[in-house]
Amino acid sequence: MAKKAARAPKRSATPARRAARSSTPVRKAAKAAPRKAAAPLRKGAARATATAKADKYVYSWGAGKADGNGSMKPLLGGKGANLAEMARIGLPVPAGFTITTEVCTYFYANKRTYPASLEGQLQQGIAKIEKIMGYKFGDAKKFPLLVAVRSGARDSMPGMMDTILNLGLNDETVVALENATQNPRFAWDCYRRFIQMYGDVVLGVQKRAGEDHEPFESVLEHYKHEHYGNGELEDNKLTADDLKAIIVLFKKLVKERTGKAFPTDPWEQLRGAAGAVFGSWMNDRAIVYRRKYNIPAEWGTAVNVQAMVFGNTGEESGSGVAFTRDPATGEKVFYGEFLLNAQGEDVVAGVRTPEPVAQLAGEMPKAYKELERIRKVLESHFKDMQDFEFTIQDGTVYMLQTRNGKRTGVAAVRIATEMVKEGLIDWQTAVMRVPADQLDQVLAPIFDRVAVKKAAVIAKGLPAGPGAASGEVYFNADRAVEAAAKGKKVLLVRIETSPEDLRGMIAAEGILTARGGVSSHAALVARQMGKVCVCGAAALQVDYNKRTLTVGGETYNEGDWLSIDGTAGEVYAGHIETGASEVIQGLVENDAESKKGRTFKNFVQLMKWCGEATRMTVRTNADTPEQVRNALAFGAVGIGLTRTEHMFFEGDRIDAMREMILADTLEAREEALAKLLPYQREDFFGIFKELKGYPATIRFLDPPLHEFLPNTEDQQKDLAKKLGISVEKIKQRVHDLHEFNPMLGFRDPEITAMQARAVFEAAADANKKGYKAHPEIMIPLVGFKKELDLQVDLVHEVARKVQAERKTTIKYSVGTMIEVPRGAVTADEIAQTAEFFSFGTNDLTQTTLGMSRDDSGSFLPHYEETEIVKKNPFATIDQTGVGALMRIAVEKGRQTRKDIKLGICGEHGGEPDSVKFCDALGLDYVSCSPFRVPVARLAAAQAAIAARKK
Ligand code: ADP
Ligand code: MG
Ligand code: MG
Repeated sequence: MAKKAARAPKRSATPARRAARSSTPVRKAAKAAPRKAAAPLRKGAARATATAKADKYVYSWGAGKADGNGSMKPLLGGKGANLAEMARIGLPVPAGFTITTEVCTYFYANKRTYPASLEGQLQQGIAKIEKIMGYKFGDAKKFPLLVAVRSGARDSMPGMMDTILNLGLNDETVVALENATQNPRFAWDCYRRFIQMYGDVVLGVQKRAGEDHEPFESVLEHYKHEHYGNGELEDNKLTADDLKAIIVLFKKLVKERTGKAFPTDPWEQLRGAAGAVFGSWMNDRAIVYRRKYNIPAEWGTAVNVQAMVFGNTGEESGSGVAFTRDPATGEKVFYGEFLLNAQGEDVVAGVRTPEPVAQLAGEMPKAYKELERIRKVLESHFKDMQDFEFTIQDGTVYMLQTRNGKRTGVAAVRIATEMVKEGLIDWQTAVMRVPADQLDQVLAPIFDRVAVKKAAVIAKGLPAGPGAASGEVYFNADRAVEAAAKGKKVLLVRIETSPEDLRGMIAAEGILTARGGVSSHAALVARQMGKVCVCGAAALQVDYNKRTLTVGGETYNEGDWLSIDGTAGEVYAGHIETGASEVIQGLVENDAESKKGRTFKNFVQLMKWCGEATRMTVRTNADTPEQVRNALAFGAVGIGLTRTEHMFFEGDRIDAMREMILADTLEAREEALAKLLPYQREDFFGIFKELKGYPATIRFLDPPLHEFLPNTEDQQKDLAKKLGISVEKIKQRVHDLHEFNPMLGFRDPEITAMQARAVFEAAADANKKGYKAHPEIMIPLVGFKKELDLQVDLVHEVARKVQAERKTTIKYSVGTMIEVPRGAVTADEIAQTAEFFSFGTNDLTQTTLGMSRDDSGSFLPHYEETEIVKKNPFATIDQTGVGALMRIAVEKGRQTRKDIKLGICGEHGGEPDSVKFCDALGLDYVSCSPFRVPVARLAAAQAAIAARKK
């Protein structure tokens, strides 16, 4: 039954602030560690002077002109390049200049000194601002020019120095400011802010180990408490006299902490601030961040110096952060927040609660109209959703920053498709704009946003299956199935899952495990079924006997409600409302109402474009007709991997399977296999029927066989009774299969013959009914050509027999999975027999790295931390290692057989970076779980578009 589509939840109170925070994760929060004394802008080594002369280190902008532009991000940093660009297109940007990233590079290459010509260029830069603004830096008589000093790497980067505002103030200039504005509160508020910011950020007057509060904040709070009996009093309630008194206390604090008086010379202040920005490039937090996101240290940061505009002059002023569209939903609405009578940092600091930007329409209609105009100019110029910062000074709007806004997956799809409709971008750009790894957010069931805010996170694990699920917890598959049959919503909670839990996993809304990584059994199955899953939530203590789950001191019993967010990897106590995504309801459940939805239509449009762009096709890894149906609905064009062994677990098939494995004689084995044949034939028929003529790569039985045998004493006893054999024999067999070659197992000609017969009989049946079967039989784990030969001969023999028996011809091919290194490096030999290769990158990764993924969770996190591996190789193809083997196999395979069909069926086939790598290798297709098909299609299309651009 189709549920009603989950509608976009209502906006929360201060979303822009959170969005702003998440796009610049630091702002206020990530204050850099205390800095070593900032190096002043001293002259560099004499050697450098000659070469430095010709170099331009300072790029100015203002009054509708700029030395730089938006394309110069490497040199000017993101902020500086876009400030120049905005000035160029006539937006109201206060004049300023950028000191280039080259200066940062020089700074570190020359013992923290500066190029000789910098000082002069700096003075010229300030002179230009003075000319445009009509004020003088350090003017003690008239309105003084004050500046903001702002860091600016290529991408905004947490860990970099906080912005310093109101620089240029001292005991004289503040009086000049007071006289010029006749606004003492404003003047002294600026001075107070400046000393606090500069003291904190440049002079390092910060919380010491063991202190709970920032020292400036403590002084402020103490003052408010003493004079107003309220330490929490809002800053804007302080009078000019209060501020003067506080400034005296602040200066005292600086003297105490640094041993020096607060610098009064504006030029010294400026050099100190610029030095601190460059110095912050190498602070611990910035280094850690760069390492994590692979940002080279050579990039360096720029420094922006810009004339101040003031949002704190009164009730006709203020500061805000806005988006040209809603970054959560993508809706084309003006979205953001604004704080009256405030400077910028107040908005993100969360001291006061900002109001929605839309409210300005009533409060300052003229400024609002200007903002609306700017919003349109920004989008039509930058051709993307912008995230921008602005200040209104006495009713006039000034632009302080713009950049492409971060957005959710849902918003990305909507914005990209709607911008094509609006004629802003072409469809290829739209395809490139949606981050492939975020597309699954569009497919995932979702929590009600208001409800989830009230719920508490009790544990964290790996986000293994995106989406949200809520249900009563059950600790075993049978009881989970039982409860689900009674109509309950169930969460299956296991320490780890195994194939025996499959039924419970199917019945459950979501799966939660205490152990296992992103490629554990639970994660794999969850992705294949599109189930919500959090795995490896190590804080969970599951007691199967008591049927309890203990975490954080709380114990949950079977039947209690929990909720999991598989997109974030979070576990919540209690029940949270959820609903299936519109896309799934429309495509998979064929729900007419959902098909009318916007998200659905946008998604379908995007996928259509992907189809036009792509070179590589996308198949699916599917074991059942239902999975095939889902995958085809998402645009898959065949099966890249059917794992036939998964077919042996259902119902009483497992008994026949076990009987076969335990058989002593050939006759007994063939007898057991004969029982399995009809099941397999039926399964294959169902798949061929669903495939509508698309090819199906069917992998024959893949050892290890011990997985099919019971491993607890009780289960073994049961089986012994059922089959009339001794428990010892079962134990012995489990032991044999387990110990000898646990990963690679052994091959049994009888099994191959049975499976081939099942495939061909099913194909004959399908052809007769007009379903055009196209099996591609895949022999796994081949390292030697001869290994394959023996199997292939068998397959052909059975094919001949069945075709003769049924008097029909079956279109089929036989190939192999490349999943051991020997297979890859002897691919030229293997291709003599194999008509296709499919890279089984799960095992190829295990065998190449010599790492079992089953327990890789115990050391891989450490490997990632110490950067032995950049990314989990079981999630993203290790391109330099495993990828090199793939390249060899592709080249050698094609040498022998020019038109050899090449694909990938490992879990990597649904991971965007790996998909792009496969496109570069020239593979014909990738194959992935049904619910990953859209992601893979998007990644494949993006790879094709990028390749064409080159
Ligand atoms: P971040 O990279 O953390 O966003 P910014 O350099 O953009 O840091 O500065 C933070 C805030 O400081 C801005 O949003 C703005 O409100 C304020 N600000 C920056 N430059 C100026 C300026 N020239 N005049 C007034 N306020 C400014
Ligand atoms: Mg900013
Ligand atoms: Mg394998």
